[in-house]
Amino acid sequence: MRPHILTPLFAGLRTLDGIGPRLQTLLKRLLAPHAPGGEAKIIDLLLHFPASLIDRRARPKIAEAIPGQLATIVVTVNEHRSPPRGQHRIPYRVTCTDETGFLELVFFHAKAPYLEKLLPIGETRIVSGKIEDYAGRLQMPHPDYVVKPDEADELPLLEPVYPLTAGLSGKVARKALAQAIARIPELPEWQDAAWLRQNSWPAFAEALRAVHAPQSENDLLIGAPARARIAYDELLANQLALALVRKNLRRIAGRPTEGTGKLREKILSSLPFTLTASQIKVLDEIDADMREPHRMLRLLQGDVGSGKTIVALLAMTSAVEAGRQAALMAPTELLARQHLNTLTPLCESAGIRLALLTGREKGKERSRILDRLGEGGLDILIGTHALFQEHVDFKDLAIAVIDEQHRFGVHQRLALQAKSGGGGTDVLVMTATPIPRTLLLTHYGDMEVSKLLEKPAGRQPIATRAMPAARLDEVMDRLGSAIEGGAQAYWVCPLVEESDVLDATAAEQRYAALKKRFGDRVALVHGQMPGAEKDAMMQGFARGEISVLVATTVIEVGVDVPNATIMVIEHAERFGLAQLHQLRGRVGRGSGKSACILMYKPPLSDTAHARLNALRETEDGFRIAEEDLRLRGGGEVLGTRQSGLPEFRVAALPRDGELLAAARDDARMMLAGDTELSGERGEALRSLLYLFERDEAIRLLKAG
Ligand code: ADP
Ligand code: MG
Repeated sequence: MRPHILTPLFAGLRTLDGIGPRLQTLLKRLLAPHAPGGEAKIIDLLLHFPASLIDRRARPKIAEAIPGQLATIVVTVNEHRSPPRGQHRIPYRVTCTDETGFLELVFFHAKAPYLEKLLPIGETRIVSGKIEDYAGRLQMPHPDYVVKPDEADELPLLEPVYPLTAGLSGKVARKALAQAIARIPELPEWQDAAWLRQNSWPAFAEALRAVHAPQSENDLLIGAPARARIAYDELLANQLALALVRKNLRRIAGRPTEGTGKLREKILSSLPFTLTASQIKVLDEIDADMREPHRMLRLLQGDVGSGKTIVALLAMTSAVEAGRQAALMAPTELLARQHLNTLTPLCESAGIRLALLTGREKGKERSRILDRLGEGGLDILIGTHALFQEHVDFKDLAIAVIDEQHRFGVHQRLALQAKSGGGGTDVLVMTATPIPRTLLLTHYGDMEVSKLLEKPAGRQPIATRAMPAARLDEVMDRLGSAIEGGAQAYWVCPLVEESDVLDATAAEQRYAALKKRFGDRVALVHGQMPGAEKDAMMQGFARGEISVLVATTVIEVGVDVPNATIMVIEHAERFGLAQLHQLRGRVGRGSGKSACILMYKPPLSDTAHARLNALRETEDGFRIAEEDLRLRGGGEVLGTRQSGLPEFRVAALPRDGELLAAARDDARMMLAGDTELSGERGEALRSLLYLFERDEAIRLLKAG
């Protein structure tokens, strides 16, 4: 239950004067686009911070007013001059005076009756707006404010400016905010008193009020005390939620799983390669975790092509050796099937029974798989998120491996936890996305981390070149001679818009052109194709029957065809750096020499230029991720935009990195001392979790 004291903050915006259904819809889109339910709430509005400040405090006499600057001036209205009939280009002018000079108020497309009422001749008015010098005459075109002297306080001398959306005026936003601010309750303090003092931070309510009433540009800076306090609140809520998930996973006793090493032996001897030192080290870490009685929650980070799949298989093999089961979940059907194809021969060599379960296995086939799973007739189940749906019951699930999952949030982790019942399933999440440290902490703060630092021996650098689109013919020619010599290539088509359908069209056109030239050795895969068709194409490509695979970004993650050595990316300037790195990582997976051609449409923006350069300079995923973060801020690196992971509203990473580290320590210490958040500060912290919509974690306090 949400603490009662927060109720006013969770009221809908319709409860504010002046907000009707239309504005409510606009505000919802602006403030809480991802929020469930239809309404934006008071707290959403309060967490919408001003981006700049209009300072109207300069109150000169007319003669002192400076062209180009804002001024608030007391004037007497002298004369109205409307433009001659039909002359719409000539403005309506109102001449005003004070004891020092003349000021012309200028209005285009004005209505005379309105202005006569607003500015009656002979009366005094306060006007505020930008001063201009027009051929030696002092003017104020379209004043922002015209008020009577006794209404002076309707004219804000310091006016916060909010990021807005079409159809929503600053005036409406400010009026709504003024009401919202009046409803802020005094809340119990959830921050440590000494920490507040040390930073000179105000209380939450005071901080919110201050943020919306900036007194100078300095108050708008990230480091301003009021902002910093609320950013820290948000980070603490995030870290506390993650710490709760982690603690809860630990609390539900896991079961030790210890393999005999026998099946592993068989698999290793059937591999055409030996493990890298990095793979061995990571496996040791996983083995040690699995032997412990607590549950494993480990993130395996390894750049594209570093060989995560085999690590996953060997970890799952321990479970099978111990007579238990394992699950491997991939983000797409295509990848699930690929895993099945690569793992089947290896598992057969060791007598491990595995099966595939995706949305496509239906009816009889599906129930047969589920029956075998429940009876223990299957050792490993590979699949998509279908694995974690209802009615999928393992006999004894020891470990779940989640592959390529940068699209995996706290919610899914909780679902997984429910799935594994009381059995205390170990969890290994594998990601190819090189996640910078700061982001690691916000999204995976609850996990231990293993890293595959080296790639398998014998890999050659990928020759990466950028070429303007005008040289398409040349690229086609070279591709022609390469496939003549037996090479295989990916041809990635641009993301036209955020629409699968449009992507598909672009890919289809390119496919037609390539097919005309190279015939049946060209195939197409895109997200709109039926699954079976996609598989057929992928398998044809994997077997070498297809030379050129035209694709949309469906091949972005995970696809592994070591014989493919050429990657052509059209409109590379439209992709993010991390995405380009992932795409390029589809080649350079075998011992052959690989090439990546980044085609772009000039002129390149500065950032696009920097991105393509970064790719040419390095293949190191971590360096690329840091560069990406520098170029565009964090969200995209993790793919959070697509995943719907909560982005921060107030905190700004990586700039608030130091606060984040402090929040993590704070959260851990807090939970170590008050495990149920039942002390005075603990209770207050529960409110904090609600405020920043991390209250799902509160459920964990009652569980177990
Ligand atoms: P990713 O980490 O991107 O998922 P994969 O697991 O798909 O990488 O492995 C990439 C390729 O490297 C695969 O073809 C795999 O068989 C191969 N591979 C994995 N480990 C080694 C190794 N130790 N030596 C040589 N090749 C390896
Ligand atoms: Mg992989």
